[in-house]
Amino acid sequence: MSLMKVSRVVAIVALAGLFACLPGCSRDPAVSRDQGTPVSSGSLTDAAAEPAFRNTMTVERMQLLLRGLDLAAPETLGDRQAYVQLSRDLSACYQALEFAGVGFQRVSAQSEENGCGFEDAVALEEGLVTYRSPESLVMTCATAARLHLWERQIVAPAAERIFGSSLASIEAFGGYSCRRVGGSGPLSEHAFGRAADISGFTLVDGRTINVLEHYFSSGPEGEFLRDIRQGACQVFDVTLSPEYNADHADHLHLDTGGERVCH
Ligand SMILES: [Zn+2]
Repeated sequence: MSLMKVSRVVAIVALAGLFACLPGCSRDPAVSRDQGTPVSSGSLTDAAAEPAFRNTMTVERMQLLLRGLDLAAPETLGDRQAYVQLSRDLSACYQALEFAGVGFQRVSAQSEENGCGFEDAVALEEGLVTYRSPESLVMTCATAARLHLWERQIVAPAAERIFGSSLASIEAFGGYSCRRVGGSGPLSEHAFGRAADISGFTLVDGRTINVLEHYFSSGPEGEFLRDIRQGACQVFDVTLSPEYNADHADHLHLDTGGERVCH
């Protein structure tokens, strides 16, 4: 068993121990007494109520960790079971975004006559850095979660390693868009909110990295873009870059539609 797996098991066992303590834990009588009991106004002092609140949050977070949906955990990267759960359990997906500090707005279901649309989705505003897009960056929660996983665990470390600088923003062309592949093919994954197109990055030192301009360059910008394209293949089902065709000369297409392509 790898060290990473061992550490995860140790963490889960430790967390499970804490779970076993709840409810009715005798280690902290003040907490166990309060759990599961509605707090009527004036029945408890603030000091007594506070530990119960903190534990509620901790339990939610532990549930997320135990399910492997912590977007900051290295183990989540490439964990296909976690990706499936993010798609199937919307409330867990929202929680995963919230605990990772992602800024988003919920977007209610949308359905268009020609088959485009999505169930619940999010408008992504900010991950570790701001997303800049000409239109609202709407996508399914699971797609947003995987985009954040890529940003946090692939893109940001690559920027630090290759440029010695942090990211300042991510430039996108868009997410949800009712359109067909190549203009006349089947509906694109964009038409279901399961794709995002990323066109470039800005670093805090002011440098800009642009897919169209730099992808094939021999300098650090090209190395960075090709590196994060390779990393995207661990996160997304389909990753298409300028290496795929001319339609993708100026962006990385990242989708969670279920096919497996890495170009
Ligand atoms: Zn696309």
